[in-house]
Amino acid sequence: MTEARIPLAGVIGCPVAHSKSPQLHGHWLKTYGIAGHYVPMQVEPDDLAETIQAMPKMGFVGANVTIPHKEAVMEIAGKVTDRAKLIGAANTLIFREDGTVMADNTDGYGFITNLHQGAPDWDPQTGPAVVLGAGGACRAVVASLLEAGVPEILLSNRTRGRADQLHKDFGDRVKVVEWVQAGNVIEEGALIVNTTSLGMVGKPRLRVPLDGLQPSAVVTDLIYAPLKTDLLQTAEDAGCTVVDGLGMLLHQAVPGFERWFGHRPEVDAATREAVLG
Ligand code: NAP
Repeated sequence: MTEARIPLAGVIGCPVAHSKSPQLHGHWLKTYGIAGHYVPMQVEPDDLAETIQAMPKMGFVGANVTIPHKEAVMEIAGKVTDRAKLIGAANTLIFREDGTVMADNTDGYGFITNLHQGAPDWDPQTGPAVVLGAGGACRAVVASLLEAGVPEILLSNRTRGRADQLHKDFGDRVKVVEWVQAGNVIEEGALIVNTTSLGMVGKPRLRVPLDGLQPSAVVTDLIYAPLKTDLLQTAEDAGCTVVDGLGMLLHQAVPGFERWFGHRPEVDAATREAVLG
């Protein structure tokens, strides 16, 4: 008789000690009384393929992937979802029973679900979104906003070429604005999103002028350390609805947990507490 295996999942990164995912998944496993474990795994780039190959044999049902492996896992996985291909990175692996490794990207889902939860009155079709940045996370944000029905994205990034690439990849609803002009389009935004690392603990301040903020706008930041960035504080003072970045981190984890452990977890106040604590 074969003994039922306890399902394992984890986060693969290098470094990985900073990751909040073990706290998050550990909280859900405990809350729902699921016999499973979620572990942080520091894996060097040279060992990535071998590690992923060995994991299913060790009882792993899947994994999250973080810096610097988000692009490399797409070469290793046997199947890559269309949205991961479009975004150009994967953050969730599913080890299927037939032996294939599927790579998906849930960042866009996490972003848009967090936005709907934090600003329930936000209607994507109200008007343009102003998006600052053009890095890896930004690609997921842009994909999810276009899918949600935002009519136009005014995209501004310090390195113009990266913004131009998003225009090329995502089409004419993405309009590129020079970084030095970003402040001039803030007033057009029904939604303002900061996807740069500016304003994060230990990083420079976001210096885009915000005088144009409309009180009717929804403003969100991908950064969650600090929880209330200067951008969110300024927006709150201007009467805007603000949504912090922690919820994106929590919601992006939901599809993976559900696939691995068979239960769709709630993102609620206790989840936030578990991760912040
Ligand atoms: P990334 O690929 O390295 O992109 C960084 C972005 O910040 C680029 O647009 C970069 O512009 C810009 N930037 C950095 N330093 C700058 C400066 N001094 N002046 C102007 N622009 C600057 O990083 P990422 O993975 O997209 O992550 C971006 C942020 O989102 C990070 O703070 C990360 O923690 C956060 N994030 C949060 C979640 C969540 O779940 N809440 C998920 C993913 C990421 P250039 O192109 O000009 O370099």
